[in-house]
Amino acid sequence: MSLMASFLRRKLNGKSFLLQLRLFSDANSHVKPSERQQEEPIEKILIANRGEIACRIMRTAKRLGIRTVAVYSDADKDSLHVKSADEAIRLGPPPARLSYLQGSSIVEAAIRTGAQAIHPGYGFLSESADFAKLCEDKRITFIGPPVSAIRDMGDKSASKRIMGAAGVPLVPGYHGSEQDIDFMKSEADKIGYPVLIKPTHGGGGKGMRIVESQNEFVDSFLGAQREAAASFGINTILLEKYITQPRHIEVQIFGDKYGNVLHLYERDCSVQRRHQKIIEEAPAPNITNDFRSHLGQAAVSAAKAVNYHNAGTVEFIVDSESGQFYFMEMNTRLQVEHPVTEMIVGQDLVEWQIRVANGEPLPLSQSQVPLLGHAFEARIYAENVPKGFLPATGVLHHYHPVPVSSEVRVETGVEQGNTVSMHYDPMIAKLVVRGENRAAALVKLKNCLSNFQVAGVPTNINFLQKLANHRAFQSGNVETHFIQHHKDDLFVDPSSSKIAKVSYGAARLNAMIVAACFCELEHSAFKQSPLGSHRVLPIWYAHPPFRVHHHARRIMELEWENEYDSSCSKLLTLTVIYQPDGSYLIEVFTFSECI
Ligand code: ADP
Ligand code: ADP
Ligand code: MG
Repeated sequence: MSLMASFLRRKLNGKSFLLQLRLFSDANSHVKPSERQQEEPIEKILIANRGEIACRIMRTAKRLGIRTVAVYSDADKDSLHVKSADEAIRLGPPPARLSYLQGSSIVEAAIRTGAQAIHPGYGFLSESADFAKLCEDKRITFIGPPVSAIRDMGDKSASKRIMGAAGVPLVPGYHGSEQDIDFMKSEADKIGYPVLIKPTHGGGGKGMRIVESQNEFVDSFLGAQREAAASFGINTILLEKYITQPRHIEVQIFGDKYGNVLHLYERDCSVQRRHQKIIEEAPAPNITNDFRSHLGQAAVSAAKAVNYHNAGTVEFIVDSESGQFYFMEMNTRLQVEHPVTEMIVGQDLVEWQIRVANGEPLPLSQSQVPLLGHAFEARIYAENVPKGFLPATGVLHHYHPVPVSSEVRVETGVEQGNTVSMHYDPMIAKLVVRGENRAAALVKLKNCLSNFQVAGVPTNINFLQKLANHRAFQSGNVETHFIQHHKDDLFVDPSSSKIAKVSYGAARLNAMIVAACFCELEHSAFKQSPLGSHRVLPIWYAHPPFRVHHHARRIMELEWENEYDSSCSKLLTLTVIYQPDGSYLIEVFTFSECI
């Protein structure tokens, strides 16, 4: 019954509120009514975040009839998340430490606007135990796990000790409190090289160093300590055996306030650059159901070990050689990539978060969680791929994502004309697709990527296309060094017609924009010139210019500089046809070969 209901709900695209309520009460006969701690219903939520995740949380809140309060920095005053909220409160200047990290101002804003709960999103204050505690002290519901779990899991050493005690497998290593350099070096020698040095309070892939041999240890250790102190304010370090062929597989878990914990399958996030994920998928390819259920059980044990409730992710590193999996860390928040899980289980995890925070039990039991096909997420970033994925900034002159459906989601916090600023993460959008199986989902991913249009800032869209088209990716042979291993296929190859075609697509679009801008600028320059400033513009130079029996047209030539190979630039020939309403019809005619 519940499985059928959840299928139905997916089809109705989340509009079946009543149906879902039935699902909730139906599924939780295991929770005695007397145990329920129904709290004051949440009617207004403050979202302590920005960008796509703030917009995404608001969407669910609105569907549930909950009012929303946005907070913003001066850089975001006209942004989509502010426009999407019922109310908005200014926090301060653009730097995050003066705005989105101002915990006390945010709690104050919640009190002032009468919001009973705060959703922290991801990043910023989402994993701050102090912020969660402040909410608790001010009697604001923190939509997330208990303060103690955030604290325990925020320290990778402490979390490993807890997980080890709970019987969850750990990467061989040292995660104690002794930090003396000679002692640490002898521990590294015992583990055997290569060794990975990790800041205990790190995140976002920062501060980690691989030590290949004994004589590199001291320099790497001191460097990691310095970086950890600068980035995280705490310089403690842990050591791990460096797994040379790892996969990153993480399990989405969920708990309620009554001790029920379940998992919602796993996500493979192996394809990374700079230890950060760019394409994620669920479920993980090429693993057996047996392995899947072991991972799930280990993740549930991990969550139970810290009396977890709300959404969390247990990250595992899987040694492709031995097939062993080990606990890596637990993220005590909603992940960036949560939509791939939502796609394959047909549930709205933000809705689960709100309901659980509100004292409701989990809507499903473990055996009721369906597995509905396969999903991918591609993170579309403003970045310069050939320059080492350097974050880029600029104005989104043209932004035209693909149409959405029940199988295609575009999570974004920007609109055409917005600026990708240097202050925050340069992610433009997340493209999420679902198919009946991996192959079908991959076809959709490729198709959507090739139709996703962004101009004005460099993006990684071409690179994502190359990844998605790579034969190793197609067969699901993913591991964390995927990009490094296949760099010859993924980076420079201007002679390859496939890559050239992909790049030409973007070049065409940019060329059209340049041509239109050129015509506009030329016209306004003409109006200000001595000839144009006469009271009546000669009709031949009007906007649009007059021609007998046909629309005015002109031919332009633009030189396109190949971003991958400056020795191979191309010449584009365009025709601009002036339309009677003042717009332009632009056709790109020819590409000459290298000039
Ligand atoms: P995931 O992508 O799995 O959700 P990440 O570790 O990439 O997890 O972090 C999610 C977001 O939070 C990213 O935008 C990342 O830049 C940010 N983030 C995570 N940890 C930190 C940290 N310690 N300092 C700054 N930003 C962080
Ligand atoms: P963060 O908090 O920065 O996300 P993690 O501990 O989750 O730090 O590690 C980030 C990434 O680094 C992983 O996804 C994986 O690619 C790589 N990594 C972590 N631990 C190991 C290890 N022991 N061996 C090899 N690679 C690792
Ligand atoms: Mg991690």
